[in-house]
Amino acid sequence: MDYQAVLEEVAAFARPLVRHGRVADYIPALERVSADRFGMAVADIHGAVYGVGDWEVPFSVQSISKTFSLALVMAQSPGSHGEDGIWKRVGREPSGTPFNSLVQLEAENGIPRNPFINAGALVVTDRLQTLTGDASTSMLHFLREESGNPDLAFDQVVADSEAGHGDRNAALAHFMASFGNLENPVPSVIEHYFWQCSIEMSCRDLAVAGGFLARHGLRADGSRLLEAREAKRINAVMLTCGTYDAAGEFAYRVGLPAKSGVGGGIIAVIPGRCTLCVWSPGLDARGNSVAGAAALDHFTTLTGWSVF
Ligand code: GLN
Repeated sequence: MDYQAVLEEVAAFARPLVRHGRVADYIPALERVSADRFGMAVADIHGAVYGVGDWEVPFSVQSISKTFSLALVMAQSPGSHGEDGIWKRVGREPSGTPFNSLVQLEAENGIPRNPFINAGALVVTDRLQTLTGDASTSMLHFLREESGNPDLAFDQVVADSEAGHGDRNAALAHFMASFGNLENPVPSVIEHYFWQCSIEMSCRDLAVAGGFLARHGLRADGSRLLEAREAKRINAVMLTCGTYDAAGEFAYRVGLPAKSGVGGGIIAVIPGRCTLCVWSPGLDARGNSVAGAAALDHFTTLTGWSVF
């Protein structure tokens, strides 16, 4: 497969859509980003990386971090499978509701539907805080290591901006705490969650860091981060829940496990082949990048690669 040629063709297809959608503004600092950006990277399972457009420009990972915090919790709790560990406290069903919705939590006793909506990610961050004593720093070190980029950093302006406008996430966390589903104090959980969302990474960094998802749990150097069945589970939950209430549409159009963020990035996995990351800040009404989703759709159309 000539990845570079495919990426050029995908970019030419997606570029007319680049200014479509709206740049997220409910976290005011995210609005600083130019809507003109488009980048895409592919990291194959052998370690080769290809890119097009703004693929080396760092952006705010936002909810893409939820994939990695779940992976880190799994890696930190070996042998904690099935109904043990984190899966007692968070489900794995699509929510069909927006990523920051409160509505299901009361009827479902403070157990979020899945780890990729905000409520679920707060539970995962809480678990990581218990396991490591410093959830956000552990995440930063983990991402530096998996991406091979020691310069990755938090964006303090974004973290502060989100904290300043974080009433919805605080409400989710307090509500879950009232059901006994947090182990740490709410202010600490939401602070670590905001820091983890503020990490800046490029398409290149994210595609490389997510390589273990395409390698059935193995890192590029052959060492094992996760059991194969754990990587499979993360991919399964990405497919069904990774793009919030658009997951069905995304599976229909793209047919790959994927995780989006309101910074405009989306990572997607072709198990056994490669990990992709695309970035363009204009979002649709459900918070997914318009040009990014179109690019992934075109990528799977051109290559014929999907999980189906
Ligand atoms: N930090 C964002 C929030 O909590 C992440 C949301 C997202 O990327 N969908 O609202």
